[in-house]
Amino acid sequence: MLLFLWPIGAWTGVYERTFIAVKPDGVHRRLVGEIIRRFEKKGFHLVGMKLVQPSEPLLKEHYWGLRQKPFFSGLIEYMRSGPVVAMVWQGLDVVKMARRMLGETDPADSLPGTIRGDFCMEVGRNVIHGSDSVKMAQREISLWFNPDELICWENSSQPWRYQ
Ligand code: ADP
Repeated sequence: MLLFLWPIGAWTGVYERTFIAVKPDGVHRRLVGEIIRRFEKKGFHLVGMKLVQPSEPLLKEHYWGLRQKPFFSGLIEYMRSGPVVAMVWQGLDVVKMARRMLGETDPADSLPGTIRGDFCMEVGRNVIHGSDSVKMAQREISLWFNPDELICWENSSQPWRYQ
């Protein structure tokens, strides 16, 4: 019942959430299942997922902080080039741990065992996005999802994942 009383914006502790997106190259290269498998096996809890053809305004808003970068227009074009699988994952320290699972922005700097380290080679085709802070996660989740698209559901394995 606690879940229904939990105020929006108080997503902390085991209720922390992050925004993860499989980018168009990841979808085209059939990496969606592998990426979901890694998050599930880690123990994170899926609360939202959809296949989206993102609009230019959505992408410009999402990457607003990079608007001055020379690669910005190429980045928007890349992200518009096909469907994206948008997801919200929940769990303890999920923002930080998901970033570690993704690897570095440049696949060349990403260790084997990370998603970018295992599945891609160029920074401009790096397969996956993950929020870089809790604040950004809240911003990105509200940009990509309506509140009624996020499902609060009990996961019976919770006592086996947290002490
Ligand atoms: P991250 O996605 O790891 O948080 P950034 O926020 O710095 O990294 O960059 C957002 C995205 O912009 C990257 O994931 C990548 O797709 C793209 N990008 C970053 N740097 C470059 C670059 N030098 N050339 C082309 N694309 C880039």
